[in-house]
Amino acid sequence: MLQISRRHIVWQSGAGRSVKIGVLALQGDVAEHIASLGDCGVSASGVRSRQEIESVDALVIPGGESTTIAKLAKAFGVFDLIKSRIASGMPTYGSCAGMILIADQILDGGFDQESFGGLDAQVRRNAFGRQVDSFETDLTFAGIGGAPFRAVFIRAPWVESVGAGVEVLASFNGHPVAIRQGHLLATSFHPELTGDNRIHRFFVDQLCKESSKAGI
Ligand code: GLN
Repeated sequence: MLQISRRHIVWQSGAGRSVKIGVLALQGDVAEHIASLGDCGVSASGVRSRQEIESVDALVIPGGESTTIAKLAKAFGVFDLIKSRIASGMPTYGSCAGMILIADQILDGGFDQESFGGLDAQVRRNAFGRQVDSFETDLTFAGIGGAPFRAVFIRAPWVESVGAGVEVLASFNGHPVAIRQGHLLATSFHPELTGDNRIHRFFVDQLCKESSKAGI
């Protein structure tokens, strides 16, 4: 169902309630994800407290520094909450550091680096090299129509291997860089930086609406 709000068309679940998406606001490019989701017509806000994280239907974990985000999640007392919400089916999209944080296994992680997990994949941190090796390229992304997607890679991870239930949506030089497993989506790159909202829209339309239909 669609409802016209002040600025946006707000997508509503079958129950008539608008879907609330939280962007984990501990560190990283939070504002850019909120803007991209807003442009897709969903209500999004930064979340960091237990109460805020409990109140959202879906979560975006932004790019930034995965070790820092994990440490801050512990310091704010929300690490286990996020982990258990992901495990119990909350639609979650992890971009770059967010991809690392929702992977079950991190390769080349920092000492004792932990992830929220959920995604049956091995993700190699800083796989494309150092900050100076950051780059942009055009990718074919399964599930979104139109022109190739301009992808910005900043000290990005790649996916080393995936389990049977994981779908590869985009690859670069033979390495998966966008994957989906049911309610979880991860990209090595940063769609929030380009103004092209097709991947955020894919998350909202394909992952958030699906779980809402299933009553999660
Ligand atoms: N290299 C960062 C990390 O390991 C990720 C970089 C990014 O999110 N742009 O967490």
